[in-house]
Amino acid sequence: MSDCLFCKIAGGEIPAGIVYEDDDMIAFKDISPVAPVHVLFIPKKHIESLDTLSSEDAALAGKILFKAAEYARKEGLAEDGYRVINNIGKNGGQTVFHMHFHLIGGRACTWPPG
Ligand code: 5GP
Ligand code: ZN
Repeated sequence: MSDCLFCKIAGGEIPAGIVYEDDDMIAFKDISPVAPVHVLFIPKKHIESLDTLSSEDAALAGKILFKAAEYARKEGLAEDGYRVINNIGKNGGQTVFHMHFHLIGGRACTWPPG
């Protein structure tokens, strides 16, 4: 999608602190981190949100989650734990309408979230 911020990051049009990339997906540092580690994991393909994920792309979403967990282990977050968050739509707090999973780690998270 030509006017999508995360499509532009995935396409290299807008720079970001990329920490992982392959043919299907990219992971990059959040511009406004809320924790010592705050990385966004996204498909390269434009998918608006988890709500619009098709059954054909279900495996892609699974792979993105797997890669987030792999990255968390690599960064030494797994022992103390961390959080993976997906915001959906207005009430979910989604502000960028290209599906993304936040990996937040390096501090204790509270529950319930805001
Ligand atoms: P959402 O609120 O949609 O779940 O999360 C969007 C996230 O994208 C926010 O945490 C926000 O800080 C991040 N973000 C917004 N614009 C940019 C940008 O231009 N670059 C990067 N790296 N992150 C961004
Ligand atoms: Zn997009």
